[in-house]
Amino acid sequence: MYQSEMVSRQSLPDREQREAALAAAGYNVFGLSAADVRTDLLTDSGTGTMSTDQWAALLGGDESYAGSESFERLERAVADILGFDRIVPAHQGRGAEHLLYGALVKEGDIVVANTHFDTTRAHVAEAGGRPVDCPVDGAFDLSAEGPFTGNLDIETARERIEAVGRDRVPAIVVTVTNNSAAGQPVSVANVRRARELADECDARLVIDGCRFAENAWFVRERESEFEGVAIDDIVREQASYADAMVVSGKKDGLANAGGFIGVADRADEDDLFTRLRERAILYEGFYTYGGMAGRDMAAMAVGLREAVEPAYLDHRIGQIRELADLLEARGVPVYRPVGGHAVYLDAGAALPQIPREQFPGQALVCAAYREGGVRAVELGGFAFPGTDRPEFVRLALPRRRYHREQLEHVAETFGAVVERSESVGGFEVVDQPEREALRQFSATLRPVE
Ligand SMILES: *Cc1c(COP(=O)(O)O)cnc(C)c1O
Repeated sequence: MYQSEMVSRQSLPDREQREAALAAAGYNVFGLSAADVRTDLLTDSGTGTMSTDQWAALLGGDESYAGSESFERLERAVADILGFDRIVPAHQGRGAEHLLYGALVKEGDIVVANTHFDTTRAHVAEAGGRPVDCPVDGAFDLSAEGPFTGNLDIETARERIEAVGRDRVPAIVVTVTNNSAAGQPVSVANVRRARELADECDARLVIDGCRFAENAWFVRERESEFEGVAIDDIVREQASYADAMVVSGKKDGLANAGGFIGVADRADEDDLFTRLRERAILYEGFYTYGGMAGRDMAAMAVGLREAVEPAYLDHRIGQIRELADLLEARGVPVYRPVGGHAVYLDAGAALPQIPREQFPGQALVCAAYREGGVRAVELGGFAFPGTDRPEFVRLALPRRRYHREQLEHVAETFGAVVERSESVGGFEVVDQPEREALRQFSATLRPVE
């Protein structure tokens, strides 16, 4: 459904160069120079291609410090698409999280979620709280099939809340789609029940809505109540239950930077909106730009509207499925059903000879870079030390960036690795940062002899 209006040249460094680049990066693909990567599936965050309408809006950006017209455009877009009349802008999703969880969470609190995304977990902890994950059964089970394995387990959440006492629970978080649990969707029925639970406990319901549009697409496809309902109606319906919604504009904002918090009218009792604005001034920027350039807000305002277009979403989620099918046809073990932004591979099944302590996921990631210059990311025992997360490798597709040929290249690359899987060896950590939870970004490794 697109034609290219601008291109960037690409090449594949030869095998020796790739080998040298990988060694120089300490076998951690976050350390690679992007120029040495052929097809970059590290993340779908901020890596999409903007439309000509977004570029046009960007050129008209208003860079006024206060009361920028571009901010007003963004406000109108959020009100139209998500139904929040009040927003607090931030430089990206985690900036918004810092504002929100810093305002809500006190020392000794717990926050329950379907699964906290890494930065959400870190911000809850930074504010003195304890993040508690309550995913439904099967969320991390590679053989489980279900339409909404991204859901919050309401009963478990209630038990965890009762165990600490309701007054210690400032917020219940529902992440749509559930990025850390293979990008699986959350049903609207589940969001409603989370709302009821929040009311019972006098807690806030926060929606981490980075992928609000992709989630709505799955709701329309899988939740009978919403069969045939327009995507933008579903988007507003799911958002209507939240007291606050955190959005990274780098995902379904179709922008390269930015984010915001939508604050519902109902969240007014203790002046949440005012407190968030004050924190914005302190940490992000004045409350009509929040660390974004005016032009970035203008581009995001257009992007939010494009993200709910049915043809765009069909293409977007269709590409993820296409990649999953191509990989499977070459014998690569894929997590099913596929989610909305990425294909997750089961590295434990692809490289069964590598024990968990030697990071089969990281071994698969390194082998794919060496084989075809493809950059993926490990989300298993290396990224989440001390957990029993499956050995996931995530192939996140940037929005509107790659074409069928690149998807074929990715599938051929992983297919070739899996075909010679017995020649792939494990890794050990050489050096890692003090904060072990963030080691995936900066630790260095070496091949096990
Ligand atoms: C990306 C993401 C964030 C953080 O947003 P950034 O813009 O990367 O800071 C928070 N939650 C979820 C679910 C995300 O996917």
